Amino acid sequence: MSDTPLPSTPLAALHASHSGCWLRDHVGTRPVGKGEAIMAAADTPLLMLNAPLVASRLGYPDLSGLDLLELYAFIHPARFMVPTPKGLAQALGLAEPASDDGVPALLQAAAAALLAMCENPAWPEREGAWSALQSLVRMRWPWAGLLSPRIAQPQRAERWLFARLPEWEEAPEPPQPAQIVLEDEAITARLAQLTGADAESRPAQQAYARAAGAMFGPRGQQRQPHMVLAQAGTGTGKTFGYLAPASLWAERSGGTVWVSTYTKALQRQLRRESRAAFPPERSGRPGPPVVVRKGRENYLCLLNLEDALQGGFTGRPAIMAQLVARWAAYSQDGDMIGGDLPGWLGTLFRKRGITALTDQRGECVYAGCPHFRKCFIERAARASAGAELVIANHALVMINAARAREPAQRPTRIVFDEGHHVFDAADSTFAAALTGAETVELRRWVIGPEGTSRGRRRGLAARLADVSSYDDEGARAIADAREAASTLPGDGWLARIVDGAPFGPIEDLLAETRALVFARDESGGQEAGYGLETEAAQLGGAFIEVAGRAQEALEGLRQPLMRLALRLEALIEDGPDWLDGPARARIEGARGAIGWRTDLLAGWISLLARLGGPSDPEFVDWLALERSEGREWDIGLHRRYLDPMKPFAETVLAGAHGVMLTSATLSDGAETQSGDWSGAVERSGAPQLGVRPHVFAAPSPFDYARNAEVLIVTDVPRGDIPALANAYGRLIEASGGGALGLFTAIRRLRAVYGRIADRLARGGLPLFAQHVDPIDTGTLVDIFRDDPRASLLGTDALRDGVDVPGHSLRLVVMEQVPWPKPSILHRARRLAHAEKFGGGGQAHDDRIIRARLAQAFGRLIRTGTDKGHFVVLSSAFPSRLLSAFPAGTPVRRVTLDAALQSVAGSVSEGVNTPLPLSKIDENRA
Ligand code: SF4
Repeated sequence: MSDTPLPSTPLAALHASHSGCWLRDHVGTRPVGKGEAIMAAADTPLLMLNAPLVASRLGYPDLSGLDLLELYAFIHPARFMVPTPKGLAQALGLAEPASDDGVPALLQAAAAALLAMCENPAWPEREGAWSALQSLVRMRWPWAGLLSPRIAQPQRAERWLFARLPEWEEAPEPPQPAQIVLEDEAITARLAQLTGADAESRPAQQAYARAAGAMFGPRGQQRQPHMVLAQAGTGTGKTFGYLAPASLWAERSGGTVWVSTYTKALQRQLRRESRAAFPPERSGRPGPPVVVRKGRENYLCLLNLEDALQGGFTGRPAIMAQLVARWAAYSQDGDMIGGDLPGWLGTLFRKRGITALTDQRGECVYAGCPHFRKCFIERAARASAGAELVIANHALVMINAARAREPAQRPTRIVFDEGHHVFDAADSTFAAALTGAETVELRRWVIGPEGTSRGRRRGLAARLADVSSYDDEGARAIADAREAASTLPGDGWLARIVDGAPFGPIEDLLAETRALVFARDESGGQEAGYGLETEAAQLGGAFIEVAGRAQEALEGLRQPLMRLALRLEALIEDGPDWLDGPARARIEGARGAIGWRTDLLAGWISLLARLGGPSDPEFVDWLALERSEGREWDIGLHRRYLDPMKPFAETVLAGAHGVMLTSATLSDGAETQSGDWSGAVERSGAPQLGVRPHVFAAPSPFDYARNAEVLIVTDVPRGDIPALANAYGRLIEASGGGALGLFTAIRRLRAVYGRIADRLARGGLPLFAQHVDPIDTGTLVDIFRDDPRASLLGTDALRDGVDVPGHSLRLVVMEQVPWPKPSILHRARRLAHAEKFGGGGQAHDDRIIRARLAQAFGRLIRTGTDKGHFVVLSSAFPSRLLSAFPAGTPVRRVTLDAALQSVAGSVSEGVNTPLPLSKIDENRA
C-alpha cells in the first residue's frame, strides 16, 4: 500500500493493469478486485488514464470516468504525450511512479497540476479555452464542472477558431527549374556541411551521395528519366546522403525535390533531419522550404468540423469535436493521422469520429467553401508548389503524378526512400475494386446525403448549382448522373444482399458474387469468419448476364459524368461574367474530381466487360467476400495489374526527369551476394521505358557479427498454440522485456497474448498488442519505445513501421517463416515468374520471404551500438532463406532452452535487467 500524501483534489483514482487494480480514495491506496473497481467507478466518477484501456483490463466496456487524457487534450492541445503513467508524469514534470500501486496518486497529482494550469496566467493554450468550455458544459463533459470555476471569462470576446486560423497566400506559379549539373566536389562539401564530418570519415556515405547526385542531371530525351537504384545497409546515412545533392539542386535550380516514404516513422525522421539541409534563411522562396504532404484524407476538413460543432455530432462524438477544435487552433498543419493530433484521442472516443472530420470522400467544394482560404489541405498543396523539398508517401506521389490539378504539383525529381515498397504501393494505387463499399461512396458523392443523414455534405447538384442555373446541358447531365447513381448500392446494401433481397443491378451482381464465393469455398469451413475469394473464371451464363446489366448501369452513370466534364471545360474556356477566381477554382476542382470518377468507372466497366471472355494477361481478376471475426463487411470484384510497375512507369517515371529508389533491401539478399541487379532493375519499372538505371550498393557499417544473433528455434511445433505462447512468454522473460513479437495471423497473436499477458505483467513486464489493446498503432510504438521493460506484439505494419533505436528493442521474435498468403493474386504472379525464369515459382516466394525477414531483422539493429537477438520459431527454416540476414550475422539452429540461455546470457552481460534463469524455468508451461 502506498502512503504518498493525498493532493488537494478529493477525487478518487483508479488504475488497472494486467497485474491488478488499485483504487486510491480518502483512506489511501489499496488493491481491489475487478468487481469492486467497477462498482466504485459506477458510484462516482473516478480519475483514470485512458478509460477504454482501463475498461478493457476490467472486462467492462461501459466504464466511464474522468479521463486524464481528455483533460490533457483540452489543456495542452497539439502537445505530444505517451499515454502511460510514465508518459503523463514526464509530460507534467511529476515523479514517475515506481510501481503500479503508485499510479493512482500520480493521477491525482496530474489532475491537480492540469487544473492548476488553468489558473496560471502563463498558460500558453488559454485562448479559446473559455469558449470551448461553454459548449462542453452544455454537453455535460465530466471535466467541465471542475474546469468552470478555474477558467475565467476573458475580458475581450475570444475569436472563433475559424477567424483565428491564418489564411494562405496565393503565390505565382514557380518558374521551370534551371538545367544544372552537380559536381561531385560540391555534393561532398554539402554533405560535410550537413553531417559536420570531415571528408575522410564516411566514405560509403559520400559515395552514396555522389551516386544520388546522378538523378539530378538534365534529361536528354523525353520519357527517359535519370534513374538511380541505390542499396545502402542500415547505418550508411542514407537520409543526409540524398538530402545533400537534393538540397544543392533545389538551391541552384529553383526546383522542387520530392522525397517519398512508405512509413510514417521515416516521414517524421525526414521532417526533423531536413531542417539542417533546407534552412529557411537560405531558401529565398516565399513559403516554407520543406512541406509535408499527405493524402487529403489525413487532414482536418474545417467545413466538416464546423458541421460537427454545430450539431452534426451529438453525445460523445460532439465532445471529441470540441477537443479537435482546440487542437486545430494550435496544430502545425492540421494533419490528423500521424501529425500533431495525439493518435490516442480518436480511440478515446471512436475511430470513425476522427475520419468523419477529414475529407474522406473527396466532397470538398473548394472555393465554394467558406474556409477555403484557411483550409489545411489547400495550404499544404499550395506550399508544396514553391517548396524546395516535399516529403510525401509513395501513394500520394503516384496519385499526384497521375492527376495533379496543376503542373507545379507534379513531382519530377523523386527520391523513393523505402524503395522496396514501391511495388506494393503501385499495386494498390493502380488496383480496381468494384465493391459494395466503393459503389456506396460513389453514390454518396453524386447524390449527397439521403434519408435521415445529417450534415452539410453535398451532392453534385448542390456543389454545381450555379452551373445548373447557367447551362441547360450541364443541368441535364447532372440530373442524368443523379438518376443513374440512384441504381447504385445505398445504405443497408449488405443486409439486403444477405437477406436475399438485393436492389438494383449492382447489388444483384454483388449477391451473385457472394453466392459464388461461398459455392466455391474449398476451405471446408477452415476459413470460417475470414475472407474468401475465387477466380473470375468459369463463370456461368447467369452470372455473366447479371454482370452485363451491372456494366450497363455503370455506363449509364459514366456517360452523363463525361458530358458534364466537357460542359465544365467549355465553361472555363468561355469565362462567363459570374466565373470569378473562386468560382473558377471550384469548377476546376469539380472537373478534376469528375475526371477521376469517370476513370474509376471505366476501370470497373472494363473489368466487367472481360468476364466470360478470354482473360487479359495483363491483369489478375477475382471475386471476394471480406469478413473479419465472422462479420461480413464488403463484397466485390477485384483487378490488379500482373505487373503494377507498368502503370507506375507510364504514370510516374515517364513524366519525371530524375528518380532514385533507395533502401537497405532493394535487391534480394541472394542477388546482393552475387552482385546481380536484374531483379531490382525489373522491379523498378525502368525496363518498361527502356531506361538503364545507375546502380549503387554499400554494405552496412554495423558489426552484426558482434551485436546480433539469429536463433532458429527448432522445437516449437507449428500450429501448437500453447507451445507458441510458452515460447513467447519465456523469451520475453529471458530478455526482461524489450521484445517485438511479429505474427502473420491475428488469431494466433490474440491467442498468444491472452495466454501470457497477465503472467508477464505480474513479473513487471507489460505486454501490449495490436488488434487487442484499444490503442492506435503509432501510440503503441510510442509506449513501447518509452518503456524498456515493455513488449509489443503485432502483425505486418510493425515489420516495417517500428523505428526504436537503442535498448527498448533488443529482441525480435517471429512466430514462423513469413510465407506469402496463397491468394489468387499471389498464385498468378508466382506462375508468371515461373514462366519467365523457370524454377516452379519457388524463387518468387523465396524473394518475398527473404524481403520480409530482412525488414523484420532491420527493426533490431538501428545504430552502431544496438545489440539483440532475432528469433524465428520454426522447426523447418530452409537454409536458402538465410541470405536474408546481413553478411556476417551469426545464425544458430537451437532448441528453445538454448535460445533462452542465449537471450538471458546477453542480458546478464549487462545489456538489460534479466529475470534469473531459475525464474524462467519456473515459468515453463
Ligand atoms: S476547402 Fe474543402 S477540404 Fe478545405 S475545409 Fe473546405 S470543404 Fe474542407
